[in-house]
Amino acid sequence: MTDKELIDKELIDSAFDDLMGSLRPSTTEENKEKIRDAFKFACEAHEGVRRRSGEPYILHPLAVAKIATQEIGLGTTSVISSLLHDVVEDTDYTVADIDRLFGPKIASIVDGLTKISEVMGAKTETTSTQAENFRKVILTMADDVRVILIKIADRLHNTRTLSSMPEDKQMKIAGETLYIYAPLAHRMGLHAIKTELEDLSFKYEHPEEYRVIAGKIEAYSTNKSSSFDKFIEPVRACLDKNGYTYTITARTKSVYSVWNKIQSKNLSFDDIYDLLAVRIVFEAKPGPTEKTQCFVIHSLLTDIYTLKEDRTRDWVTTPKSNGYEALHLTVMGQEGQWVEIQIRSKRMDDIDEKGLAAHWKYKSDKEDKDSELDRWLAGIKEMLEKTDANALDFMDAFKMSLYEKEIRVFTPKGYMKTLPKGATVLDFAYEIHSEIGNTCIGAKVNHKLASMSYKLTGGDQVEILTNDKQTPQKEWLDFVVTAKAKSHITASFRKNRKELLREGIAKFEALIKRLNLPPNSEPLWKVLKHFKVSAKEDLYMKIAERELSEEEIEKELRRKDSKFTKFWKLQFFRSGPKDLQAEDDVDINVGDSDLVILPCCNPIPGDDVVGLNIGGKVVVHKRRCPEAIRLLASYGDKIVPVKWVSHKLMSFSVHIKLIGIDRVGIVRDVTMIIANETNVNMRSVHFEAENGVFTGLLNLYVHNTQDLKNLLEEISNVKGINQVMRLEEEGK
Ligand code: MN
Repeated sequence: MTDKELIDKELIDSAFDDLMGSLRPSTTEENKEKIRDAFKFACEAHEGVRRRSGEPYILHPLAVAKIATQEIGLGTTSVISSLLHDVVEDTDYTVADIDRLFGPKIASIVDGLTKISEVMGAKTETTSTQAENFRKVILTMADDVRVILIKIADRLHNTRTLSSMPEDKQMKIAGETLYIYAPLAHRMGLHAIKTELEDLSFKYEHPEEYRVIAGKIEAYSTNKSSSFDKFIEPVRACLDKNGYTYTITARTKSVYSVWNKIQSKNLSFDDIYDLLAVRIVFEAKPGPTEKTQCFVIHSLLTDIYTLKEDRTRDWVTTPKSNGYEALHLTVMGQEGQWVEIQIRSKRMDDIDEKGLAAHWKYKSDKEDKDSELDRWLAGIKEMLEKTDANALDFMDAFKMSLYEKEIRVFTPKGYMKTLPKGATVLDFAYEIHSEIGNTCIGAKVNHKLASMSYKLTGGDQVEILTNDKQTPQKEWLDFVVTAKAKSHITASFRKNRKELLREGIAKFEALIKRLNLPPNSEPLWKVLKHFKVSAKEDLYMKIAERELSEEEIEKELRRKDSKFTKFWKLQFFRSGPKDLQAEDDVDINVGDSDLVILPCCNPIPGDDVVGLNIGGKVVVHKRRCPEAIRLLASYGDKIVPVKWVSHKLMSFSVHIKLIGIDRVGIVRDVTMIIANETNVNMRSVHFEAENGVFTGLLNLYVHNTQDLKNLLEEISNVKGINQVMRLEEEGK
């Protein structure tokens, strides 16, 4: 053996020992032997192959297996599947070989993992292929939760080792991770992993911002450590006196969540007051329920500190659907600051850290079958099995199902149903059964008559009223929120869709011909952009269904480009599916034919933007724009890094909202500030006051986010002004 081979062998052996040391203590000798066999097999299969970082390939599956067992808490089957997860994809062995050597269960998990890689890695040409692929991925995943969990472990290790990848690969992986895998981890209840995935992706997408925020958080917690000690001192004394065994830790918000808050609320770092939370994890005493003990501690704490009303969150009585349990409260500390405290038992803490796998540890098999997560998976599967559901619609619904906040409502017999916040009577009807939904005419909510569109609140008791003559109506789509209801309603119209699409295309093409426009995609892009429609199919449907009149479209097609977009300058690194390596900086003017700015989110210089190369056009959105998130999830491989080039040639329209206490002269004070700002111009203002509360809506022109930030700061100093914010869209 050469020196290098010896070093490799040592590395591999120590990683393997490490893995064996992290197995559940209950792992039998027999299972350990099986794991050893899988390791030997994987070692031999990946022999001689190295990762981009230069280390032997086998270290990757070993690391994934260790994450699966140590950080997710999975057992032998998952450890073996993790060790073998890349064998079928990267070597000549087949699923049949795995089946022969390790049995059908492991073969099917490895098969699922291989399919996901193939699908996610596939080069996509048409618009919806990636979404279609993603749907296949989820279909595979839904067979066995372990496939999802191991895939998350795989992604976590790849993200941890991202530094050795080229920049465009880093962007692609970071983007996908942020838009698909972090939400998935969240849905699976893997809190620690979700946070790490977000922070790592963010670090690659915005290295500078990451460095700044991470530094500030660090400084803040060092700074606060003495006041933290002072805050918990009486808490410790009290818990000790009452015989509790516990740990108390201070938790700071993650870098990504701080950034998100700064971005979405237009705050500065210093405005974030809930940066620090205190977590109490106690060993449950025998006897009283954990719930009771949580509330006893709650009561002990409020004897010491003043409770902030309406800030208690009880996820002990009804856990979140990803399994999260804890009791949160906010109290006022000695220095007058609000401090959030999270109370949870050791078991609850385990579930938060390790998610689903910890559930398995604490629940018997019988209970497990009925878990919220299984119901969620069953719901996803049901959605998928409707073979005609549009792939992009599915993506939307899926993403929604990852993020939705829930309410709990009850049937007349007292059965609980979980629905997303904002769900209506009709959503509830579809939740019970598609036929009930299709024939729903209204309901009795808490014994009172309510319409189909009535928004439910937690705790409502709902009795659905039906009529056989009822059929689904198009308008229903305006108020239902669940994926289930939407997919059932659209499915009942689906038959017509193809016909309508054909009609819309014919009308649009006739219009192009009549106006003598070039038969390329130029006019189409212009119309999509103007009417804020993201897919051409949607546009054709709108035309066919007369939501958009031909006159309106004609007017837009005849219009000359407006003046501000012409000077808008963006720099982007020209890279795309064709030549991923080339990274020349290119300045692009918005007038250029290969740059399209969809104004759904009105990005201005300084905003975080993202570009997507779609059919040779770079589409630019704010990074937080829901439409961008939707597109990124479907076109992950088409991300183009874009950056604003600073210049002061042109101004951009922004909408601002002010709220405050009305007083004489407040309007004058605000408008004076704006008039004195040389970098800002006013386009329209609208002020109103009602019951002493003053609201202002301003439409301004600014050069960039820095000018805007300065202005907002100045306005917020005006006496009486409580809140100043930038609106994403006009009037919202
Ligand atoms: Mn892998």
